[in-house]
Amino acid sequence: MSDLKYFECPNCGGRLEFDSASQKLKCPYCEGTYDPDTFGEEKEYTIENTKWDESDELSVYTCKSCGGAIITDANTVATSCPYCGDPVVLQGNVRGDYKPSRIIPFALDKNAAKKEYKRHLKGKFFLPRAFTDEAVIDEIKGVYVPFWLFDGTANAQIWYDATKVRHWSDADYNYTETSYFKLFRSGRVSYEEVPVDASSLIDDRMTESIEPFDDREFREFNANYLAGYLADKYDISARDCKGKADERIINSTEALFASTTSGYSSVVPTHSRIMLSEGRQEYVMMPMWLLNVKYDNKDYKFAMNGQTGKFVGDLPLDKGKMWGFGIGLFAGISALLILLQYILI
Ligand SMILES: [Zn+2]
Ligand SMILES: [Zn+2]
Repeated sequence: MSDLKYFECPNCGGRLEFDSASQKLKCPYCEGTYDPDTFGEEKEYTIENTKWDESDELSVYTCKSCGGAIITDANTVATSCPYCGDPVVLQGNVRGDYKPSRIIPFALDKNAAKKEYKRHLKGKFFLPRAFTDEAVIDEIKGVYVPFWLFDGTANAQIWYDATKVRHWSDADYNYTETSYFKLFRSGRVSYEEVPVDASSLIDDRMTESIEPFDDREFREFNANYLAGYLADKYDISARDCKGKADERIINSTEALFASTTSGYSSVVPTHSRIMLSEGRQEYVMMPMWLLNVKYDNKDYKFAMNGQTGKFVGDLPLDKGKMWGFGIGLFAGISALLILLQYILI
């Protein structure tokens, strides 16, 4: 059963929100600030039994501040009262199996997201001019996205056919010499914290496009970091995300091995054997700004990494050219090459 956690200023009763600039819980009225790692430990600001209706899908709570109805679904972790804006956290959804072990707090605020959006539009040659003038940001929200992080090891052997082509000329002829090689690469690669988006509500292309996150900023999870933001718990299990992580590890290993086969005119992999061994898995939350822009009766989605400011999104096109999402697939994976031996046959 979920119970609501409020963020009441102990000094004036105002509502605290996590302030990304100071990395503290901050009261907008008396300017009091509180450490999110320790706030509310002695005194629980928890109101139970405020819920007055519950079905399988939706729950309705009465806002403690204004009496308005706060409607949540089964996955809601953090939201705010639609009437007075009071942030609330549903503590039942960050307990037990649903408690993230770590969180990267927001480092950039809503204004930073608006600024990056404007910058994103600049210099886009194929963007209809009217878009810049008429499109309006319809919605902008800060969301903590649930992720699974996987560690794993790939034992790989890959065979390639390669060629070297040499050209030269003398007074009478042009010569071409093609040499053929068989290449073999073998090694073991360890991966740490390969991220997979654990929410079915957020487009995986979005989450992969805004990677990487800087894992040095991870803190131990505390619900206080969620104050003033939206968050859902995971609805895709670690087991169901594992295949995606494996796929990323295999692609990354192939790319890493291929990077050691330079110096040839052509290299084609002919056969590969990659064995994966499982490692640790971890449930975490990472910050993301989501923007919905309306233009010409259509919705355009944009996203910004709430830690690094990396901004992505599709724009309408004047001419038949696509920008799409530039997926920087492996930038976030810290790969440690333990052993890479190769034999040139
Ligand atoms: Zn206050
Ligand atoms: Zn309210």
